[in-house]
Amino acid sequence: MRAEMVADQVTSGLSELVTADQNATCSEANISLMRRIAMSSIYIKAVGRVDGNHMVCSSLEGSDVPFDLGEPALVSPSGVIARGDVQLPIAEDMSFVVLQSGDYALILHKEHPIDTGEVEEGVILAAITRTKAWTFASNGDVPAEWISFLGESDRAVEVTSNYVISLIASDRYDLVGIAAIPIGELDTLVDHIANVAIPIGIVASTILIAIIFYFRRRHSELPAVIRSALKRDEFFLEYQPIIDTDSGKWVGAEALLRWQRRNGERIRPDIFIPAAEEAGMIQGVTDRVLELVRRDVGPFFKFHPDFYISINLSSADLHDVQTATKFQNLSTEIGAADGNLIVEATETSFTMPDKARETIKQLRNLGISIAIDDFGTGYSSLSSLKNLDVQYLKIDKSFVDSVTREAVTSKVVLHIVDLAKTLNLEIIAEGVESEDQVKVLKSLGVRFFQGWYFAEPQSLDQLRLNI
Ligand code: C2E
Ligand code: CA
Ligand code: CA
Repeated sequence: MRAEMVADQVTSGLSELVTADQNATCSEANISLMRRIAMSSIYIKAVGRVDGNHMVCSSLEGSDVPFDLGEPALVSPSGVIARGDVQLPIAEDMSFVVLQSGDYALILHKEHPIDTGEVEEGVILAAITRTKAWTFASNGDVPAEWISFLGESDRAVEVTSNYVISLIASDRYDLVGIAAIPIGELDTLVDHIANVAIPIGIVASTILIAIIFYFRRRHSELPAVIRSALKRDEFFLEYQPIIDTDSGKWVGAEALLRWQRRNGERIRPDIFIPAAEEAGMIQGVTDRVLELVRRDVGPFFKFHPDFYISINLSSADLHDVQTATKFQNLSTEIGAADGNLIVEATETSFTMPDKARETIKQLRNLGISIAIDDFGTGYSSLSSLKNLDVQYLKIDKSFVDSVTREAVTSKVVLHIVDLAKTLNLEIIAEGVESEDQVKVLKSLGVRFFQGWYFAEPQSLDQLRLNI
C-alpha cells in the first residue's frame, strides 16, 4: 500500500508537470513550477529537468547543475525511466531513486516506498518491479528469484531455509510488495505465543467457562427457586400510575410483580418471568399475581370506582381456558365493576389466535378491557388487531424514546396514533421519562402516559394516598 501511495504521487506529479509546462526550459517560471510540485508532495523530495543523462536544473536551491544521473536502470512498460542509487551533489553520502518521464525527473527517498513504521530486527521489506525484478526500494538484499514465487498469481507465501516470504502484487502498478521474516525471528514469535499468549488464553477461557457454568446453573435452578419463592410468599406487587393528561389525574395503575428473596436479593421480572414462562410455570405465577391483587385491593374500588388496575398476562395465560374463570372469581371478590380491570398482553403472545380470542371474549364479557402491551415491537398484524376486541394500545418505551431523537421512528409513532384513532383505541405511552417526550406525544394526540417522569411503581397503600 505504501509503495502504491508513492507511485500515485509520482504519477500525478509527473502528469501535472507535463500538462502545466508552458515555460521555457529552466526559466524562473519553470523552476517555480517544479518547486511547487516538490513542496506539495510528501514523498517527492525534488523535481528536475533532464537532458540525456544529466539533470540541467532542479527545484533544489543552490545545487550544482548540470550533474550526471548515470545510465537508466529500467524503462517501465509505461515509459517511465528509473534510476536507483543516484547521488546528489548536495547530499553525497545518501542515494536516491530518480524516476523520469519525458524531460522531467522526480527524486525520491529510497526508504519511502517501504516506510511502514517500526520493523522487527532482520525483517526485510521491499518494493520490486514485477517485470525485470528491479528494486524500487528495500532495506535488505532481495534475491531476484523471490519474485518467481508469485508465478501467475497476485499473492504468495513461500518458506525458504532462511525466511518466510510473503509477496503481494499491486493491481495498478508494475510493483510487488515483499515482506520476509527470518526463520529465527519466527521462533521467538512462536516462543512468545507459547510462553505468554497461550497461558493467558487458557486462564481467560477457564474463567469464562466458570462464569458460563455459574449462570447456567443459576438459570437451570431458577424454576425450582421460583417454586419455593411461591411457597415462601416472596412475591409482591407494585403499581405504576397511568396519567390522563386531559385531567392531570391518575386514572389507573399497572400491577408489576416484584420478587425479593429472604437474603434481600432482588430478582428482576425480566429475568424470572421469561424463566417461569420457559419452565411452563407462568400460570402458577399469574395465579399468585391475582391473589396479590385481591389482597392489596380490598375495598379500594368502593372509594375509587373510576380507577383501573392493569394486569400483565403471558401467552400461556391467554391460551388457558381457566384464565377467564380466575378473573371472574377475582372480579367478584374485589367488587370490580366494568372498566376496573384491564389485562395487558403483547402482540406476540397471540400464538394461537382462536384460543386467545376465546379468552379475550370471555374477559370482555366480564367487563374487563384489553390492552396490547409493547405495541410496535412485535410483527404487528394490523388485520388481527381489527379482529380483536381491544381497547388500549400501549406504545413501547423504545418508540417513546425515539420521538425526541430519530425522525424515522417518530413517524412510526404518528402511524400508531393514526391507527389507534381509526380503530377507536386509547393510547398509553409507556416509559415516559422527560417533559420533551410528553410535549411531542401530546401534540401527536396521545392522552395517557405511564413512566418515571410522572410516577414510579409503588405500593397500593402509597398510591392510595396520592389519588
Ligand atoms: P412491561 O409490561 O413493559 O412493564 C413496564 C416496565 O417498564 C416495568 O418494568 C416498569 O417498571 C418499567 N418502567 C416504567 N416506567 C419506566 C420509565 O420511565 N423508564 C424505564 N426505564 N422503565 C420504566 P419491570 O417492572 O421491570 O417489568 C418488566 C417486565 O416484566 C414487564 O414489562 C412485563 O413484561 C413483565 N412483568 C412484570 N410484572 C409482570 C406480571 O405480573 N406478569 C407478567 N406476565 N409479566 C410481568
Ligand atoms: Ca405491561
Ligand atoms: Ca410494556
